[in-house]
Amino acid sequence: MNTQSCITGLVCPKCKKRYTHRELQHLCQCGSPLLVEYDLERAGYLVDPETIKTRPVTLWRYAELLPVLDDANIVSLGEGFTPLTILPAIAAKYAFGRLYMKDEGIIPTGTFKARGAAVGVSKARELGVKHVAMPTNGNAGAAWAVYAARAGIKAHILMPEDAPRITRNESVAAGAQVHLVRGLISDCGKILARSIPAHGWYDVSTLKEPYRIEGKKTMGYEIVEQLGWQVPDVIAYPIGGGVGIIGIYKALQEMQRLGWIGDQLPRLVAVQAEGCAPIVEAYRKKAKESEFFPDSRTIAFGINVPKALGDFLVLEAIYETEGCAVAVGEADIINTLLELASLEGSFICPEGAAALAGLKKLRAAGWLKAEETAVLLNTGGGIKYPDTLHFDLPYCPVDGTI
Ligand SMILES: *Cc1c(COP(=O)(O)O)cnc(C)c1O
Ligand SMILES: [Zn+2]
Repeated sequence: MNTQSCITGLVCPKCKKRYTHRELQHLCQCGSPLLVEYDLERAGYLVDPETIKTRPVTLWRYAELLPVLDDANIVSLGEGFTPLTILPAIAAKYAFGRLYMKDEGIIPTGTFKARGAAVGVSKARELGVKHVAMPTNGNAGAAWAVYAARAGIKAHILMPEDAPRITRNESVAAGAQVHLVRGLISDCGKILARSIPAHGWYDVSTLKEPYRIEGKKTMGYEIVEQLGWQVPDVIAYPIGGGVGIIGIYKALQEMQRLGWIGDQLPRLVAVQAEGCAPIVEAYRKKAKESEFFPDSRTIAFGINVPKALGDFLVLEAIYETEGCAVAVGEADIINTLLELASLEGSFICPEGAAALAGLKKLRAAGWLKAEETAVLLNTGGGIKYPDTLHFDLPYCPVDGTI
């Protein structure tokens, strides 16, 4: 399949300034992240849901709505079209109508960061990039490292020293240059900003690089396609930098303009940990932007982001869809994780468990009705988190019985 990307350029959602997609871009001059624009009329002429159905089951099946111009630049490990798994036992226990889990544990690198990396690295290759650099809490670094390796691009990664060892190992094994920092991801970002001018690397920090949103938005297309081109009533997402929810909202708007879905959009729910809940606090105040959340901590390290660059876009997605933001405690996260494993046979990451814990709260409060259909995003596999759970187990002597 020769891709027919309908990309027309990049636009600033704040000041509306436009930029070309034929050169490397970062933030707008005004400091806002940039969004990719498409000629949706042309896309609607080139492709429709019936045609998409016949294509390979990767995220590249939505090629007209992705930014890569030439197929030859696509760097793929088969990412996308993850299962939309129904959760009947949890639904029965908590009186949900229909409850589905979009399971991103089953994707290359074991987290949905693979989507952003696949599209971001492909576009970087198309634009002639030889070196990418980023700060990371772990999962994004690992994903970008493996896709960069496949593209023949060198990755330079800064991680806090307490980022999970498994993501460090994955990055180093893939040939990335990894530096550890005795500090937070924000400190890593500052070091990178100081270092980049001397090297001329392409800065692919979250939302400073416009194309990873495009990778993550495909979750929105897939959910709707997997429900037979119907939208659910609610989509709950564990939010850190917010790229996923911004992407899903963008996908929904594109599908509306393409005429593939109707007027009614799902209510988008942002779930955060109580130990790092800047978006939830902003939502409670009906604010348009969030404030830095001091001393943030949670076992769900992927959502430990005290201030997101795209916070205003996240809040807009919530308000415009009449969604909400909800915080959950650490014990809730662990208990929900164990419940999913023991009732549904699904061993997921703590961030995904947080999303379900948030939905349970909303169901109990009546915000989510018994007849409604909800989808939760599980953003990664439990096997990527070898240090999250600790069990004290009884020993059996080697010559004993049980
Ligand atoms: C990065 C990450 C998140 C948060 O994603 P954003 O799109 O940045 O909000 C959630 N879960 C996991 C496992 C992650 O790695
Ligand atoms: Zn701007």
